[in-house]
Amino acid sequence: RDLIDSDRRCLWHPYTQEKTAPDPIPIASARDATLTTVDGREILDLISSWWVTAHGHGHPVIAEAIAQQARTLEQVIFAGFTHQPAVDLAQQLGAALGHGLTRVFFSDDGSTAVEVALKMALHAHQNQGQPRPRLLAFEGGYHGDTWGAMSVGGSSGYFEPYLRNGLDVAFIPYPHTWMGDPFVEEKEALSLLQLEEILLHNAQTPFAACVIEPLIQGAGGMRVCRPEFLQRLAKRLKEAGILLIFDEVMTGFGRTGSLFAFQQCGVTPDIICLSKGLTGGFLPLSATVCQQSLYEAFLGDSFNQALAHGHSFTANPIGCAAAVASLQLFEQENTLSKVSDISSLHQSRMRRYATGKRPHPIAQRPRVVGSMAALDIVAEDAGYQAEIGDRMKRFFREKDLLIRPLGNTLYLLPPYCVTPEQLHRGWDAIDELIEQLEA
Ligand code: PMP
Repeated sequence: RDLIDSDRRCLWHPYTQEKTAPDPIPIASARDATLTTVDGREILDLISSWWVTAHGHGHPVIAEAIAQQARTLEQVIFAGFTHQPAVDLAQQLGAALGHGLTRVFFSDDGSTAVEVALKMALHAHQNQGQPRPRLLAFEGGYHGDTWGAMSVGGSSGYFEPYLRNGLDVAFIPYPHTWMGDPFVEEKEALSLLQLEEILLHNAQTPFAACVIEPLIQGAGGMRVCRPEFLQRLAKRLKEAGILLIFDEVMTGFGRTGSLFAFQQCGVTPDIICLSKGLTGGFLPLSATVCQQSLYEAFLGDSFNQALAHGHSFTANPIGCAAAVASLQLFEQENTLSKVSDISSLHQSRMRRYATGKRPHPIAQRPRVVGSMAALDIVAEDAGYQAEIGDRMKRFFREKDLLIRPLGNTLYLLPPYCVTPEQLHRGWDAIDELIEQLEA
């Protein structure tokens, strides 16, 4: 109680300031998929603590790599200096990404990885003597809370109070689809038509880049699109000389079934943004990785041609060492086969919501991509619909489950070490909740 009271007096938490918000839960330790509170209660973490703990909490191999690095070299300026963990990580990331994505810029978190990508794209065109002032992005997208990342965000709920007076961005609808959706092709055609219209009306002020979350938009509601759409989008952007930025901050590191989502889409981006699972979720670190050709646009005689970006903690050695250890675990522990097992379990539990004609009217738009499963809870009564989000949050909290709906979207995104029993526990709770809401 003391800890909670002290917290209440001095701390400011993200997104939980409703007067009715419950007290924060004091956590003492965590291991695998389990958080333990200061009084010994165990909470099952089925959203990987905001989608970061890839292998689970406290993996001893990553913990040891961090301890060793902290004793050797904890931090050094990265302008004009280098170190082994940064070089190892860049090389291993380049090898894991493939497809020419070899030039790595490190920063601190997902938002800043996106900031860097936007600056790279805008500045590269400028360096080539063809300034392109505008950007393309997607409705429902989320790319972070810094100013540039907010500007390309298409989930207005997150940004409403702030002015969008920075970047000049045009938005395209994300062709969100789900199991059994009969209109997917029409939605994709509409998105591409909208893109054509934007290009046509803005011929005088061309676009530098288009940023998209491939396969799934995360914070905008776990909205899914097909690889076919990404292929058509990439082709059209290439024709128009517009760089393609994939924000894989959430989808990277196995989330969608392959190490990176783009690897199952038949599309290679010019720039990719990575964070969250990069260090296995242990430390804040991010990477913006681009094609070598893009890097070359910054090689010149003038200081003004260099990328004007540098964080104090760029390429922090401890973060890099954690990331090297985490990447190696993917091979050592055959992690992608664990993701495939999680996906099969999701598919089998989702069947009751996906087969037949709306078997559960309140649970709609079922979707599974890799280790992620989502459903929208939709009630016809608007008043009831509005209160469902809070009811859901309370329900899971009372069951000691960390499942945190996004509005009325219920989703699971577990760490890859989750056991089938733990995952079934989450699904049993979801089934029970839906039965309660339907009653
Ligand atoms: N891009 C995507 C796709 C994300 O999901 C997030 C975080 N939810 C971000 C960027 C921002 O990352 P961070 O919170 O680490 O700044």
